Amino acid sequence: MKYEENDPLLLMHFQEAIEQRAYAAGGGEFVAPAQRMADFCSNTISSSLPSCSYLPGIASSQMSDVLPKFIHTTLQEGLRSFGKKMHGYYINEAVILAAESRTSSPVRIPRDSETLQHPQIKNLYPCGEGAGYAGGIVSAAMDGERVAGSVGLVLSK
Ligand SMILES: Cc1cc2nc3c(=O)[nH]c(=O)nc-3n(C[C@H](O)[C@H](O)[C@H](O)COP(=O)(O)OP(=O)(O)OC[C@H]3O[C@@H](n4cnc5c(N)ncnc54)[C@H](O)[C@@H]3O)c2cc1C
Repeated sequence: MKYEENDPLLLMHFQEAIEQRAYAAGGGEFVAPAQRMADFCSNTISSSLPSCSYLPGIASSQMSDVLPKFIHTTLQEGLRSFGKKMHGYYINEAVILAAESRTSSPVRIPRDSETLQHPQIKNLYPCGEGAGYAGGIVSAAMDGERVAGSVGLVLSK
């Protein structure tokens, strides 16, 4: 992966590149690339996979083809380390799927802290995950509630 260091959308391109690799590794149709945990840590392609509740299905893949090296090796170290601390954690029945890449947007749309409107565009209320104000169901709901309150205040005037 090659990136322009000063590109303000750098981390969005980074996220997109991982998603594209995961999509390709699963063979398309949103089938998720998968690897058993011990196989993941030893860079071995799993010859079989346990059943999984992910509905589009899973396909045995080499996760190093999907994840950037620093993420792949850090996860390998972390899983091995947890395995030493928690008996029964590090097993080959556990399956790793790629990639849970949705999180707070790496780019934040500015908004006024009082009115919650965009500083330059009146009546535009950046809100929730895509605007960079939430990173999950609860924080998005709470931000939505806050913004709805501000819109309600304006409408009631
Ligand atoms: C696979 C997956 C698993 C997840 N698991 C968890 C979890 O376990 N726990 C957790 O806390 N979070 C989880 N999340 C994250 C969570 O779903 C999001 O953080 C949350 O839904 C963000 O809420 P939101 O209202 O900000 O955005 P969204 O829920 O994305 O809502 C944005 C809405 O805007 C609509 N929209 C977009 N463009 C336009 C347009 N031009 N005009 C009109 N409407 C438009 C979209 O259709 C969508 O309905 C997961 C996300 C994914 C994808």
